[in-house]
Amino acid sequence: MKLWVLGSGSSGNAILIETARTRILVDAGFAPRVLKQRLAVAGVAPESIEAVVVTHEHTDHIKGVASAARKWGWTVVCTAGTRMMCPDWAELRTILTPRKSSVVVGDFHLETVPVSHDANEPIAVIVTSMEEGARAGIVYDLGHVTESVSRALDKLDILVIESNHDEGMLRTGPYPPSVQARIRGKYGHLSNRDAAHAASQSIHSALNNIVLAHLSEQNNNPRTALGTVGDSLRRARFRGRLTAAAQNSVVGPICVGAGTGIATAPIQLALGI
Ligand SMILES: [Zn+2]
Ligand SMILES: [Zn+2]
Repeated sequence: MKLWVLGSGSSGNAILIETARTRILVDAGFAPRVLKQRLAVAGVAPESIEAVVVTHEHTDHIKGVASAARKWGWTVVCTAGTRMMCPDWAELRTILTPRKSSVVVGDFHLETVPVSHDANEPIAVIVTSMEEGARAGIVYDLGHVTESVSRALDKLDILVIESNHDEGMLRTGPYPPSVQARIRGKYGHLSNRDAAHAASQSIHSALNNIVLAHLSEQNNNPRTALGTVGDSLRRARFRGRLTAAAQNSVVGPICVGAGTGIATAPIQLALGI
């Protein structure tokens, strides 16, 4: 299994996952022109993607979904709640999934898990390659880690987790108090400290890559996020790579198994390896 973060942050999110048989995206929060450029960095033609799994209806996750799915023939996988918020998807080939369920797309078994976020039936996604057995968890846009999310992070090979803000930077940053309250609230976004805790809890022998996603440009930066989460993972004896995703550049491939090198990772730490 190989995973690329094509971009992640409040201006757009898209993650490419592939095995020998199947390619999917999780979210398509960029215009098709941008998606095509970022996919080209990964050496992937947009037409070769089978489906886009949509986590929720916020613009930074769906901006390109309708036009890209129409243009390149992608199937959309989402909850009924997400679909309800996107009336212009009526014509698209869609697989509706309950919030806590599983769906098969090609080689991938997709497990959906409800998350706590201010959207209509938002989900996290655990992607398992049925041929290779590799597992990647994509968990972002959530205010806190519930018991069911925590359980879903068991036995992953790759964890992509939200590390949205540094609590101190949010407090002293440019956002008005009401927006700050929404971000740090139960239905908002995970802080670096929350990410550190969740990532440390999910450590097991096969987890060799953790990627910090959805970093705020105002209330965080990659070094701060890697510092906070890295300290915690070091204490928890994590052995693997910790990488920060970027808003405007592609990070990957992050590979399970042989050749775990990352070709384009501007900022990463190698811990205990
Ligand atoms: Zn988002
Ligand atoms: Zn959101």
